[in-house]
Amino acid sequence: MKCMPSVRYPTASLKPYREEPLTKGHLWVFSGSLQQPPYWIEAGALADIKSAKGQFVARGYYNPYTDIAIRILTFDKEEAIDVEFFRKRIRRALERRDDLATMQTTAYRLINAEGDGLPGLIVDRYADILVMQIHTLGMERLRDLVIEALLQEIEVHGILLRNDVQIRRREGLELEEAEVVAGEVPAHITIQENGISFIVDPWHGQKTGFFLDQRDKRAALRKYAAGKHALNCFSYTGGFSVYAAMSSEETRVTSVDISASAMDLAVQQFKLNGLVPEQHEFLIADVFEYLEVAYEGGERFDIVVLDPPAFAKTQHAKKQALQAYQRLNQLGLRVLRPGGILLSCSCTSVVSMRDLREALMQDVQLLHRQVQILDSYTHGIDHPVNPVMPETAYLKAIFCRVK
Ligand code: SAH
Repeated sequence: MKCMPSVRYPTASLKPYREEPLTKGHLWVFSGSLQQPPYWIEAGALADIKSAKGQFVARGYYNPYTDIAIRILTFDKEEAIDVEFFRKRIRRALERRDDLATMQTTAYRLINAEGDGLPGLIVDRYADILVMQIHTLGMERLRDLVIEALLQEIEVHGILLRNDVQIRRREGLELEEAEVVAGEVPAHITIQENGISFIVDPWHGQKTGFFLDQRDKRAALRKYAAGKHALNCFSYTGGFSVYAAMSSEETRVTSVDISASAMDLAVQQFKLNGLVPEQHEFLIADVFEYLEVAYEGGERFDIVVLDPPAFAKTQHAKKQALQAYQRLNQLGLRVLRPGGILLSCSCTSVVSMRDLREALMQDVQLLHRQVQILDSYTHGIDHPVNPVMPETAYLKAIFCRVK
């Protein structure tokens, strides 16, 4: 017989039949599903969820200030939320990413929030440095347990906490400066991705320093790039650019991004991988403006990569986001040679793969071009998605050939 967890948690009760999504593995309880606001539970505290009939359903943490009132951590009544709980989740996450080690890859998302059963928590691994991000009030209160568990499970040189993301405000949390919470964290880390070296700035870089979610798309681009002239729009620190340039000595890459510091790092990545930056172009510019000017100036490319930042955060703004994708795709298509490859990406979660495909089809028709879809991608194996929570998926990418 198993023992009851030594800690008891306060209880919130569901309205009748509201446990159904949870029994399928959904990890959110909306405030409207609770019988009454559980004023006896402190904001951010752990809580048990019971069905209207009084049966245990799940255990999670509570936030009275958000639509998602409770995020679930376990469906096991006997499982206490302690260091051991986090150690188990981390071990499972590490096992799921075993395959990456054989791909000469030392950087990956180790904990992908809901996808790894730990809502509100992101942990990215850059060789022996971990970069953590906490998005929710409940996970914030569990922060010391998480750090303790990470240190017990993984030999690391240091852990950096990057609690500087806007999403924290929704939970009533402050944005914080980057902070070392264990060991030491250098200004730059050199990582390997599919055998290619990259320099990552974990302190100031976007997200936690690198767009780990594009690894498989970058590898796929290499297949098409040999001997071609590629245009990488929204290049950030040159992820897609280096993969393309590595495909052959004849390949030429033009990288465009608005961030000067990202472009500096892109040049360094080329040097680090034995590429000659002078044979390529690195432009600090607004992509929309650049594409207009390039088209007017008669510049044409064999490959165009479009990987813009998210265009909308809410369902409400979806229409505008779709218009922005259409405009961007059109601008990209105009500088693409007939028979060229377009990679169109969207990290806007309210825009689905189907939406992106339809936007693309309309653009192609408008410009009287013909298109073949070659490949579609989502996040990659280190960004697992809970299948009953498709709303937590965000990335879509379509490779197509355009005549
Ligand atoms: N493809 C990249 C990630 C792109 S993230 C990779 O694989 O690493 C989006 C990038 O768009 C950021 O680097 C940001 O600086 C840049 N950006 C945002 N708006 C822009 C604009 N209007 N013009 C050019 N770059 C822009």
